[in-house]
Amino acid sequence: MRKPVIAGNWKMFKTIGESVNTAVSLKPLVSNANHCEVVIAPVFTSLKSVADRLEGSNVKVAAQDVSDQLKFGAHTGEISGDMLKDAGCSHAIIGHSERRAMYGDSDAFINRKLRAALHFGLTPILCCGETLDERDAGKAEQVVSDQLENDLTGLTADEVAKIIIAYEPVWAIGTGRTATPEQAQQMHAYIRSWLSGKFGAGLADGLRILYGGSVKPENIAELMNAPDIDGALVGGASLEAESFARIVHYNG
Ligand code: PEP
Repeated sequence: MRKPVIAGNWKMFKTIGESVNTAVSLKPLVSNANHCEVVIAPVFTSLKSVADRLEGSNVKVAAQDVSDQLKFGAHTGEISGDMLKDAGCSHAIIGHSERRAMYGDSDAFINRKLRAALHFGLTPILCCGETLDERDAGKAEQVVSDQLENDLTGLTADEVAKIIIAYEPVWAIGTGRTATPEQAQQMHAYIRSWLSGKFGAGLADGLRILYGGSVKPENIAELMNAPDIDGALVGGASLEAESFARIVHYNG
């Protein structure tokens, strides 16, 4: 059985104080959520303070990115996986569409970041997804499998087994336009069958594939009903503790 993951991406929102306040409010609201893993991803500057306040709780902390570098050194502006572990992170989001579109994160760069995260024992949450133009052109599956092929290049099956994949159609992120459960399920099933062909059915059956794109308390339950949707990566609706907690408790 795949344990669902509900992850919140706080993007470039919240000061340290605001992040700590939200995390502290969230903690008791989800303390009995044994049915899923709960992860939040504050900005880098808040990671340590948030992780300290969540120590011993069931809420894990993710970074929103990770350096591709394996050794400390002259890499201005970078933060290594080692440093993220030191700050209390267990997970790292890699290849979010905002980084791909706005900051030039190529598949080759994402591949190096994935390797670095795995090297330091962080669980990568690898994002993939097509734009609206690509979907309208009938290329959604091709785009997603190309991303995965390139992002996972050279990784062993054991390494891939440690990754969480997040399918996030770009047209659904921050737009209020959610993929229907049928559209999401279709892509998740495609991703799982692609993984199966590449790394074997055992690995594909065990890998968690999250859906992301305008997930809200109102639509999470029907998304989670789809057999290949193993959780959600949530942006906007994760910023308020109560709304995120309602998503975590999608099962009632
Ligand atoms: C995201 O940032 O990963 C995301 C899915 O955002 P939103 O939930 O706001 O669409």
